Amino acid sequence: MRILITGTPGTGKTCIGLELSRRLNYEYINLNEILVRSGVCKYNPDIDTHEIADTDRAIEIIDSVLSRDDIVVDTLVISLIKPEDIDKVVVLRLNPKILLERLRLRGWRGRKLCENVLAEILDYFLVESINIFGEDKVIEIDTSNKSINEVVNEIIKLLSSSRPRLGAVSWLSSVDSDFLVKLDMCREGLIDDV
Ligand code: ADP
Repeated sequence: MRILITGTPGTGKTCIGLELSRRLNYEYINLNEILVRSGVCKYNPDIDTHEIADTDRAIEIIDSVLSRDDIVVDTLVISLIKPEDIDKVVVLRLNPKILLERLRLRGWRGRKLCENVLAEILDYFLVESINIFGEDKVIEIDTSNKSINEVVNEIIKLLSSSRPRLGAVSWLSSVDSDFLVKLDMCREGLIDDV
């Protein structure tokens, strides 16, 4: 089986992907790292992030990675992946307030920090995953206040079920509007922090 693990930065893709691959005896592949190391990305200092600069070459690399079987692929780059190459997509979710603190610990500040917390609140990776791979392949997991082992146990249980698992969280209805406004102002560069 080819499993994709995605979600907003900081939700635990690497930790959970590594443990999941160990438990399933699958190969763990960090696709973001492979793409950055292969030179197809370009660093954009304005948003302090690597962006794909050579799409054709990136697709070639992704195709070659996904020609293997029994893999857990950790990535943010889901838009270039062919849906037929993936059997299941695990979208990790994390309470936005916990995510904010985790990303701060990484040293993220200002626009980059707020943009990512807003992406989590607005279900960005969930919506993208459903659009690209279809509802039937998507498993959405709320990782908030759960250990890595608890999350991995939950994923393994859901992988063997034929039913999709969506609707695990609804951040938009649980965050206060003041927090949302501050995140948006910070993303716009109108304030430095929330
Ligand atoms: P991502 O790959 O999505 O950016 P990481 O796997 O690097 O996320 O995890 C981000 C941080 O959160 C790390 O410091 C990691 O130790 C911590 N972390 C990940 N999952 C959990 C969890 N379930 N509980 C507590 N901390 C976690």
